Amino acid sequence: ANISIRDLADKMNMAAIELIKNLMKKGKMATINQEIDFELAAQVAEEFDIIVELEEEKDLLEEIFKEVEDKEEDLEARPPVVVVMGHVDHGKTSLLDAIRSTHVTTREAGGITQHIGASTVTLNGKKITFLDTPGHEAFTAMRMRGAQVTDIAILVVAADDGVMPQTIEAINHARAAGVEIIVAINKMDKQGANPDRVKQELADQGLLVEDWGGDTICVPVSAVKGEGLDNLLEMVLLVAEMNNYKANPNCKARGTIVEAQLDKGRGPVATVLVQRGTLKVGDPIVAGCAYGRIRAMVDDKGRQVKKAGPSTPVEILGLSEVPVAGDMFYVANSDKQARQAADKVKAQGRLQILGQSQQKVSLDDLYNQIQEGQMKELNLIVKADVQGSVEAVKQSLERLSNEEVRIRIIHGAVGAITESDLMLASASGAIIIGFNVRPDTATKAIADREEVDIRLYRVIYNAIEDIKSAMKGMLDPEF
Ligand code: GDP
Repeated sequence: ANISIRDLADKMNMAAIELIKNLMKKGKMATINQEIDFELAAQVAEEFDIIVELEEEKDLLEEIFKEVEDKEEDLEARPPVVVVMGHVDHGKTSLLDAIRSTHVTTREAGGITQHIGASTVTLNGKKITFLDTPGHEAFTAMRMRGAQVTDIAILVVAADDGVMPQTIEAINHARAAGVEIIVAINKMDKQGANPDRVKQELADQGLLVEDWGGDTICVPVSAVKGEGLDNLLEMVLLVAEMNNYKANPNCKARGTIVEAQLDKGRGPVATVLVQRGTLKVGDPIVAGCAYGRIRAMVDDKGRQVKKAGPSTPVEILGLSEVPVAGDMFYVANSDKQARQAADKVKAQGRLQILGQSQQKVSLDDLYNQIQEGQMKELNLIVKADVQGSVEAVKQSLERLSNEEVRIRIIHGAVGAITESDLMLASASGAIIIGFNVRPDTATKAIADREEVDIRLYRVIYNAIEDIKSAMKGMLDPEF
């Protein structure tokens, strides 16, 4: 919060020249129209025995948390942020390890690699930031908390195994988040590697690779032999260039908590990914209920750093408590403001304040939301006991789309309703439809907490009728 000398003088009922004189004594030259920040204003006022307080805490909070749009000329290119996804055992961890160990520059190589939750690698002088936790579950869990940090997903498919259930899940999670997908066909060194089969199976999922006339980039690699990695990273940089990822580095920082824990010796430790501005040691920050002045920052090579710009992951020390992964962090004007903001979050609940809560969708409320124009697309996840039902339901439901609302099946698969389905539903505002399957107890509990609407059916006809009625506002209430 800033105030001009003129306004401050008005409020203090004094001549502006007195304030300007006082500022000069402090070694600060100011004109009557100049704005000074709250802290300085408070110092000046105190010398005239006036205590100034911010008019409204709400303003203060709004200022810290408010959405900002940067001017085009303030934006600069930033490194892409990448996650690695794919079926279990297809080589996600091996690929990340191989990339990390071969693509640190010589200058950096002296440092000890630290696993802080994200890391930066360099190819041809260009940086790429990787989130270190592989898998779409981690990715969607963060998205569920409001974090939109990822630009590109590398989809790892083992050449000897092909597209598997979690490959399809990963594709659908990435699509629902609107991130770019680059395919890495891994384990090319293995006997029985069959990249053509993989490409065919990807095509069945709507990912047509470039050499088959589509636009999905696909790179053969071997994580174990370290082959194809440069090529893969070049493709990541190419996609980054095409998308022109940018951020304003010259402003107060904000970004996302990637990981956080309590360290015995060092207290609360959090890895943050800066998304806008430049984070500096000494900055007062607030992240959910946690606040504090940054005491030290360590990068992924274990080096102490003083500042971190956009797409840079750093571990920070100095928070009052352990923040929640997926929460945003913001830099405040002062320690006091950071604490007040955190207190406010504590009192009112973070979701309300940050406006991060995903719109909850339920069939009961569908008609109203359509009428209010809030709902243009109804996202559904379909789970069934047999593949035939998944396909049949997908087609019948998508056909219900009309001018007012489009029905999108963001994921469909055989099997019980899992935690991963729930996270996807919560992160994407979707309803889950199950046929002859149900959620287990743990999943049911998360569904209640996250307010995800799960509808279970035995007959396809009933599901279609329900959605039809819900669209018209004529759904019979559930008892
Ligand atoms: P994740 O579950 O997807 O993280 O898979 P991992 O990285 O743990 O790899 C699963 C297994 O596949 C391990 O035994 C790896 O050594 C092996 N593996 C990973 N990449 C390759 C590869 O390029 N070639 C071969 N032959 N084996 C690989």
